Amino acid sequence: METERISDKEDRFEQRRNLMNTWRDYIRTVEPYVPGEQPNQPDMIKLNTNENPYPPAPGVGALLKNMDPDRLRLYPDPTAGNLVQALADYYHVKESQVFVGVGSDDVLAMAFMTFFNSGRPILFPDITYSFYDVWADVFRIPYKTIPLDENFQIRPEDYRGEIGGIVFPNPNAPTGQELGQDQIEQMLKEHPDVLVIVDEAYVDFGAESALPLLEKYDNLLVVQTFSKSRSMAGMRIGFCIGSAEMIRALNDVKYSFNSYTMDQTALALGVEAIRDDAYFKETTGKIIETREWAKGELKRLGFTFGDSKSNFIFAAHKKVSAEDIFKALREKHIYVRYFNKPRISNYLRITVGTREEMQKLFDFLEDYLE
Ligand code: PMP
Repeated sequence: METERISDKEDRFEQRRNLMNTWRDYIRTVEPYVPGEQPNQPDMIKLNTNENPYPPAPGVGALLKNMDPDRLRLYPDPTAGNLVQALADYYHVKESQVFVGVGSDDVLAMAFMTFFNSGRPILFPDITYSFYDVWADVFRIPYKTIPLDENFQIRPEDYRGEIGGIVFPNPNAPTGQELGQDQIEQMLKEHPDVLVIVDEAYVDFGAESALPLLEKYDNLLVVQTFSKSRSMAGMRIGFCIGSAEMIRALNDVKYSFNSYTMDQTALALGVEAIRDDAYFKETTGKIIETREWAKGELKRLGFTFGDSKSNFIFAAHKKVSAEDIFKALREKHIYVRYFNKPRISNYLRITVGTREEMQKLFDFLEDYLE
């Protein structure tokens, strides 16, 4: 079940070196990550990329309208000081413990590049965020995937051995299921010499954050994003919190790559989003409420799914194939995500939209599945 692809790649590189042909033979070939599609129809219901159906906090919009274009002459603050400080205050950590980037994809890519250099394989689940193997490939990091159990749960005891690191989302994507704090702590304890990255892209929808474990474990890095719970996927803001030593190492790599990763607009609007905690709680609360109601509706319509703690539900229908449902929905401009991959090809990942959007989805399914 485990996969290890790096040696195959190295063989291919060796063969190429021997041919001594042109620059084309020395291209860094990778199989890129495939993002969910971004259709743009006026009547669409877009439940395919886990975006937030509510707008960003009102202060974000107000600041955006009043921005002075003249300021764009200047480079942004390379330290992202104001945003780092706002995050440090919000999460009760030191500024030296916070690193920000262009979405959590950028933060995760930097972390892979900075920390996973031991030559030993890093581990992540077989069913998980499909960018991890792409970063491992592009940075030539060996990796092994560890199968989730039959209920799509991570089993910490499967992550033992001579390893170079661990990374997983919590809640996991695309399953939406949460790994308990005790089990995360077990992993941190069993691997004191190895970095464990917990990707908390979806943690604000009712799961427990691993951030309190930072006090006890210096091998933990927690990654989060403004893309989901703070309704700012288009602004590209991600961050991570870890030990000051880790953050220093990340900044060294960042400054060796691109000093100004975050633009001025993102830095200012990010601070504004963090300030409005009431709005954040209200909108995440509404999504959680809609998700719990949607679980009942999906069950009634004949779907099965694990217990999601995220802003999406990963569901299979008892009788009709996921691919058929996906295609039928698409024709009606209702977009959900379908992965034609081993073990999950009969599942749909349905982002939780507004109650009205979900009602339209269920009205269609009610007719279609009759
Ligand atoms: N981690 C997980 C598990 C995700 O699903 C996503 C969203 N595609 C990301 C990280 C990256 O999100 P962003 O770059 O928008 O912060």
